[in-house]
Amino acid sequence: MDYKIAVVKGDGIGPEVVDGAIDILSYIGEKFNHKFIYNEVLAGGSAYDVYGQPLPRETIDACKIADAVLLGAVGGTKWDSLPSDKRPERAILGLRKELGLYANIRPGILFNALSESSPLKSEVLGDGFDICVVRELTGGIYFGERGIKENDLGKSAYDIEEYSEMEVRRIAKTAFEFAMKRNKKVTSVDKSNVLESSRLWRKVVEEVSKDYPEVELNHLYVDNAAMQVIRDPKQFDIILTSNLFGDILSDEISVLTGSIGMLPSASLGQGGKGLFEPIHGSAPDIAGQGKANPIATILSVAMMLRNSFNLGQEASCIEAAVNRALDEGYRTCDIARNEENSISTKEMTKVIKSYI
Ligand code: NAD
Repeated sequence: MDYKIAVVKGDGIGPEVVDGAIDILSYIGEKFNHKFIYNEVLAGGSAYDVYGQPLPRETIDACKIADAVLLGAVGGTKWDSLPSDKRPERAILGLRKELGLYANIRPGILFNALSESSPLKSEVLGDGFDICVVRELTGGIYFGERGIKENDLGKSAYDIEEYSEMEVRRIAKTAFEFAMKRNKKVTSVDKSNVLESSRLWRKVVEEVSKDYPEVELNHLYVDNAAMQVIRDPKQFDIILTSNLFGDILSDEISVLTGSIGMLPSASLGQGGKGLFEPIHGSAPDIAGQGKANPIATILSVAMMLRNSFNLGQEASCIEAAVNRALDEGYRTCDIARNEENSISTKEMTKVIKSYI
């Protein structure tokens, strides 16, 4: 089958890590007899330099007709002084909105070979953890009504957290569907002891759970969840939560894995269409030096294969090759104990390819 992929390499290390991921994907195509057709388009700072805006219409259109979007990272000091609507990071928010990507999937996996990089003690880590955060991405306080009021006492500012039943239902369904393919446990995180929006969230999640009797559901308040992921991360399978809580919890969990250059993410919409990207940024401090870790982007491609193209075997093949490269001791600069023993982006890609 043919799969059309819009490729947004972006800025900084974006092009370096995306090249590695495409190399791996094309090799999977050869091995398993699939045709991946790439259409490279600009977004972020590189798009601003050419079009005067971070997300040109051409890019939106190309992403809309593609089967999936692969993105490196955007941003950099060169564009830091631009007004907020021209900043490279706006491109990602714009793409999520244009493509209707309401579900953000962020795996937080502790790779056994890297457990010494985690800030948690080994007795807490045990034999590792594998958490998947399913975060609502297009609703809640980030998209609610906002403003500044002025009265006799001076200025006051507000941002409204609002969720409709429809928004909660569709993200809850995504979480339960993911749970069915994993360890069948969903922890829904809210603040229903205080917030009305959380009380509706909890009610709808419970309704959706009735369609998934095999999946165990529990609820945590967000303050308790923030403690529990540190106290005992192994207890979690899927964490289902809102835009704001998910933003914070997924970053907290990624730190526990000890490796920002390792973690992929997916933003999914209706019908499995998705945008796949590493969680890290454009790392301007190491851009152009050929030493960025390509693994987060390579694992993003594995997520693309599994979630958008339903190619689970091919995805597992990539994940196993990454694990083997780590088990064999290959390290890029960000995960090496001694930087002198680290290998380049291209070398890491080559090693992973050789294990596929
Ligand atoms: P960052 O993730 O780019 O870098 C943080 C640190 O981690 C740096 O020391 C960097 O060298 C290192 N690092 C990150 N990815 C790495 C990799 N693959 N291999 C080796 N080391 C890696 O975060 P930042 O410094 O806060 O942001 C830099 C720029 O990226 C900013 O302009 C920011 O707005 C942007 N950003 C973009 C995205 C995105 O495109 N989704 C996400 C976060 C930040």
